[in-house]
Amino acid sequence: MRKFVIGNWKMNGDALEVHEYVHELKTALEGMPCSVGVAVPFLYLPQLTALLGRIPVSVVAQDVSQFKGSGAYTGEISAAMLRDAGCEYVLIGHSERRQYFDEDEMVLQQKLLCACEAGLNPIYCVGEDLNQRLQGEFFQVLDKQLAALEAVRDHLPATVWVAYEPVWAIGTGKVASAEQIAEVHAFLATRLRAILPARCAARLLYGGSVKSVNAREILALPGVDGVLVGSASLTVAELSRIIEEARAMA
Ligand code: PEP
Repeated sequence: MRKFVIGNWKMNGDALEVHEYVHELKTALEGMPCSVGVAVPFLYLPQLTALLGRIPVSVVAQDVSQFKGSGAYTGEISAAMLRDAGCEYVLIGHSERRQYFDEDEMVLQQKLLCACEAGLNPIYCVGEDLNQRLQGEFFQVLDKQLAALEAVRDHLPATVWVAYEPVWAIGTGKVASAEQIAEVHAFLATRLRAILPARCAARLLYGGSVKSVNAREILALPGVDGVLVGSASLTVAELSRIIEEARAMA
């Protein structure tokens, strides 16, 4: 199965950049079978969908409302709206959402449910912070974070995406070592086999300072089905080098 490469723009870019990015991406991916997703800010999702047209790149949202349906939730974007904007996937539980918006497992559980019910594929992000890593508490932290997935197990799609993103590696230039990634991915795979219903299969991404220079080593690790790329996804040149590495391993 092809490795999945997802670029997360976070709160970066503008309409012109989305336009130029898709134009460059189209050229870069020409004749290159791959599995790629791009997460731009909410505002640019319909534009991204329209510009991509038949280019086989999935549109990914960076977040979704925890509230079901529609209603008096000023400022919120529902899962159905994201579907309407052409999204196939949505990041849920990114560490920046947990850190700056106090999103806890209760909120994330609601978000997961909303996404699944609207037919969006959640990419559930988990990861320990530096202190938890140093204290050797990371398995407990990850287990606690997985509880939100377990709570919605009956609603999950057949393929369940989980991204391991150690907080200390996000945007810091510090990549987890091959041993650390392989160890956590093996742990997650085991836990997910126990948590998920038999009809579901888990696929695992690694995220945290992935660049073209380290992508090959990370993508080659056992249990790594792809990468979630932040800052390095902001230029097509760098993202397409990572995609090339992923493609070479399919
Ligand atoms: C991310 O935003 O999910 C991420 C992994 O960021 P970076 O690649 O910049 O560390």
